[in-house]
Amino acid sequence: MLVLIMIIAVVSGKGGTGKTSIAVNLAISVRSVQLLDCDVEGPNAHILLKPRITRQELVYRLVPSINEERSDYCGECAAFCQYHAILVAPKKVLIFPELCRGCGGCILTCPRGAIVEGRGARLEPSRRATAAI
Ligand code: SF4
Repeated sequence: MLVLIMIIAVVSGKGGTGKTSIAVNLAISVRSVQLLDCDVEGPNAHILLKPRITRQELVYRLVPSINEERSDYCGECAAFCQYHAILVAPKKVLIFPELCRGCGGCILTCPRGAIVEGRGARLEPSRRATAAI
């Protein structure tokens, strides 16, 4: 028996373009389908589909943590962070978790290894769920 598997990705770099609407309508137009909402910032296909949630798990996002003893306050991390989530003062580094997107770039950028991965905000359980449609 020949099984045909087709993978369709609906992607865009900009919000509000209708990706979710297209993906959801494609999904409901075929009989056997798996829809994976991979939007790390705001998965919302469930709003349109209203699925029966069968399993949930708690997930956390990365928020960097500063080791002030290792930092020389060079500011490389703040210069890298396009979300302005890091402020480097002469003798203090501040991280604003509500602005951080958890990309981890500041950890890779720090020349002294003074930034480590910390556990950040917990995402809502319903945002990472397995559902039956
Ligand atoms: S993890 Fe990314 S978004 Fe968060 S502070 Fe570091 S560079 Fe900015």
